[in-house]
Amino acid sequence: MKQYIFCLLMIIASSTISAQQQLDSLLPVRGFCIAAPAPNDLDRFIKFVDEELAPRKVNTLILRVDYNYQYKSHPELADTGALSESDIKKIVAVCKKDNINLIPQVNLLGHQSWASKTNKLLAVYPQFDETPNVKMPEHYEWPNADNLYCKSYCPLHREVHKIVFDIVDEICDVFESNAFHAGMDEVFYIGEPQCPRCGGRDKAELFAGEVRTIDEHLQQKNRALWIWGDRLIDGKTTGIGEWEASYNNTYRAVDMIPKDVVICDWHYERADKTPVYFAMKGLHVITCPWNRPQVALQQTDDMINFRATSTEEMQPNFYGMMQTVWMGAGNFMDGFYANKPDRKGGTNTDWNCFKTMFDKIGSIK
Ligand SMILES: [Zn+2]
Repeated sequence: MKQYIFCLLMIIASSTISAQQQLDSLLPVRGFCIAAPAPNDLDRFIKFVDEELAPRKVNTLILRVDYNYQYKSHPELADTGALSESDIKKIVAVCKKDNINLIPQVNLLGHQSWASKTNKLLAVYPQFDETPNVKMPEHYEWPNADNLYCKSYCPLHREVHKIVFDIVDEICDVFESNAFHAGMDEVFYIGEPQCPRCGGRDKAELFAGEVRTIDEHLQQKNRALWIWGDRLIDGKTTGIGEWEASYNNTYRAVDMIPKDVVICDWHYERADKTPVYFAMKGLHVITCPWNRPQVALQQTDDMINFRATSTEEMQPNFYGMMQTVWMGAGNFMDGFYANKPDRKGGTNTDWNCFKTMFDKIGSIK
């Protein structure tokens, strides 16, 4: 009898392993990307990871930290009320327990301000500002005369990398991570004419140069670089536009960046077939939906089909899916647990998109 039970357990164990292996082979990355929680949302966020992400087979969690951490290397860059090392270690522990690859994000190059607020790097080190001539408005509106969306740092400033790499290394160390997400989306200020270092230079070369610099730094500690993909897509020719693709000629950088960079390819309104473009360039690509469940379902089907039907050279480049959440972790969890409708009373919400996509992934046999 004991032997029979042992055999039964072995069969169950081996079928579980093979189901897991099959899922890993269909979609190696099953990700979730959200802002790092505020300290007072930490405990329920950890519960959310354990009770909602892990059972849905999420294996990658990207936390957008930026300056929400008490950096010891640069305390001057920590936001008020930022997470501590022991807070982060609690997240590290739950991710280890649930076999989730935890990756920090700090926006490099672009997104150095938001609306009328300058983020910490340029607030403390204004000399790194690519456009010091553009003053932050009291009341931000879009469009505006300066074409100000977000500030960028100047990638050719001699001092900037020393500072940002200190915090990149520190946050990767505390996360115990094997990868780092540098953001690098929606960079509209780059190679600006008035910048004494960048003015007149090729914007694609500037963008690619910054990707290379960051990648080479991370490689020293065997860490992979992940970035958003929009600056590498030709917005005009594809019709994808100037937000989720590039109108400022940075897209040629796709042929100048190292092939080990992982591209997070976000498209929220259509299932654009851009994963094929990135895969054909030899880059690993992850499709990222936001709040439209029907788009996410199509994108998931596409990713699985691209992987299944491509050559063995390209197959590994189709790397998986990642739900992106563009609100605070606290607001997301409020919406998720109450299953709140969208503003029109419908179901186009970050949480419904997340649940719908991962229900589908979970149902794959
Ligand atoms: Zn510059």
